[in-house]
Amino acid sequence: MRHLMPVHATHTPQLATKEKLVARLLFWFAAHARDLPWRRTSDPYAVWVSEIMLQQTQVKTVIPYWNRWMRKLPTIQSAAKASPAKLHKLWEGLGYYTRVRNLQKAARQMLAQHDGKFPENFAAVLALPGIGRYTAGAICSIAFDQPTPILDGNVIRVLTRLYGITTNPRAQKTNSRLWQLAGELVHHASRITHHVTGSRSIARAAGSKGADDPIRLMAIDHRRSPQPILGNCSALNQSLMELGALLCTPRSPDCAGCPVNQLCVARKQNLQEKLPKLAKPSKTTARRFIAFVVERNGRLLVRQRPAGTLNGHLWEFPNLETPAGATPRQLARTFFGRAPTKLEPLATLKHSITRYRITLEAFRAELPNAHPQPDGKWLTRGQLHKLAFTSAHKKILARIGAPSIVSARPIGRH
Ligand code: SF4
Repeated sequence: MRHLMPVHATHTPQLATKEKLVARLLFWFAAHARDLPWRRTSDPYAVWVSEIMLQQTQVKTVIPYWNRWMRKLPTIQSAAKASPAKLHKLWEGLGYYTRVRNLQKAARQMLAQHDGKFPENFAAVLALPGIGRYTAGAICSIAFDQPTPILDGNVIRVLTRLYGITTNPRAQKTNSRLWQLAGELVHHASRITHHVTGSRSIARAAGSKGADDPIRLMAIDHRRSPQPILGNCSALNQSLMELGALLCTPRSPDCAGCPVNQLCVARKQNLQEKLPKLAKPSKTTARRFIAFVVERNGRLLVRQRPAGTLNGHLWEFPNLETPAGATPRQLARTFFGRAPTKLEPLATLKHSITRYRITLEAFRAELPNAHPQPDGKWLTRGQLHKLAFTSAHKKILARIGAPSIVSARPIGRH
């Protein structure tokens, strides 16, 4: 073990709590951070791509997408110049496709305004398309070790519990307070002169005997660390996200194993399961769609969704929303102008988009003389495989034997 440095002397009870919180979070993160591919780099482009992919999407879903993206489009320049078809194919299955279109717009803006480099100034990062306050804070802290706070769902949960905040965190006043608390913590981390982040073995060697032990910071020999040197702002912000993902989970948080349990107001007051106090989710609406799989001479009828609509640029089988009481046969007649000679069920798929709970029923339809719709195309299975499909229609494609990957539905970051 190398040198152990004591935490700064305390000044006021509030400051003492903040110091302990920051020290314990940094220490815990050094020992327990997951080894995620984007944590092996501090390249702002790579960090940015990971942050955009992780919006509304689970870590385990993002890993293969991020790896593939970084292999195919490793630089700002390559992302700026990629064709829309390539971009959408790389994003296929991640959902929320506006993210990938904004990503390219931002890459082009960096070429035009920042000499092809990722800007380091928070305001300039925030001015890029698709980047809000959270993402700008995450990039500036993780890639450049700046004391810029972050506040996403995980951090909101951790902070409301730690500080025992019982008002709605989405309400403006409470939300401002949370940003302020997140800012105070990361600023405090920026004033610590020793890096805490390093390899797990070094952190373990320092010996954490429990949350009540005096927390100490240690100087780390980074030459021995397999991971890049992370500054304390980067580590502190990531520790809050990591704590929310691994221990301070929405249900049944692992308070016994939590590094800050002695400082947590919610735990003291047994409120951890009740916080954060979010407003009730809006009512869900059920919607039903019918899709038709029509094949002729080994080619299938598909269409591309127009730009500017939900899932714009992606491909799908002909489909329409069903009015109450309409049968698939009636709908096929309305849609194709003639009744199918054969109609058989193929698959029923359920998925959610925002507040909509969607049921998609797919039918194989035989329509011997069907012409493509104005926006339709007859394509072979091999051609379909190269196109980017919406998640639900990709599953239909998988059912009819075209080679494909059944995509995961994004349901939140953990
Ligand atoms: S003690 Fe429990 S509720 Fe408090 S921060 Fe830790 S895991 Fe969350």
